[in-house]
Amino acid sequence: MAVWGVVVAAGSGTRFGAPKQYETLAGTRMVDHALAAARASCDGVVLVVPAQDVSSAQQLGNPADIVVAGGSVRSESVRNGLAAVPDDADIVVVHDAARPLAPPALFGAVIAAVRDGADAAVPGLPVADTVKEVDGTRVVATLDRRRLVLVQTPQAFRAGALRAAHEHGWDATDDAALVERNGGKVVVVPGSEAAAKVTTPEDLARLGAHAS
Ligand code: C5P
Repeated sequence: MAVWGVVVAAGSGTRFGAPKQYETLAGTRMVDHALAAARASCDGVVLVVPAQDVSSAQQLGNPADIVVAGGSVRSESVRNGLAAVPDDADIVVVHDAARPLAPPALFGAVIAAVRDGADAAVPGLPVADTVKEVDGTRVVATLDRRRLVLVQTPQAFRAGALRAAHEHGWDATDDAALVERNGGKVVVVPGSEAAAKVTTPEDLARLGAHAS
């Protein structure tokens, strides 16, 4: 089964204050960490970067096979990357450059779950805190945390299921949500603290302390 990766690195880093994908962690840019991890588990990799960075990202030595421009929201960036994935790919793994230390075993676990028959597989971590639904400052409900997971990337998909879900042009904060909405079977595998997402400079410092 041909497995392709799509690494999305086309965010503008609004909350970080700079394009965080180019920040270094243990001497390597976040985007390069993510690319290396995808490369280790996939037959080919598409890298999605801001339009102005496409030509510099195509330089010799880039481990991505194909580089394309992203869109204004994450789902659009994934769609652009997916359009460049060859038609004969059986499984597509979508990964955030903002999760630079996702371990190879996590890629292996989500890919294995799709090989076993799921339309999609996502890493999920248990929720330690109590989670409440609010309307402004007013608490509306307390959710049962035993039924909740915190979802990460890499997320693996049967290529046909991901392409069909993205055809609608929907927007969501992850791709599994689009497959769920399209009626697909999405399963959860155990997530990894190492796959934490970098949103703020403090997140990067925390991850850097773990990496060194
Ligand atoms: O913004 P957020 O942290 O949720 O972004 C998750 C990942 O999606 C990041 O790796 C970011 O670069 C990518 N992204 C993208 N295109 C966008 C927005 C986010 O590739 N328009």
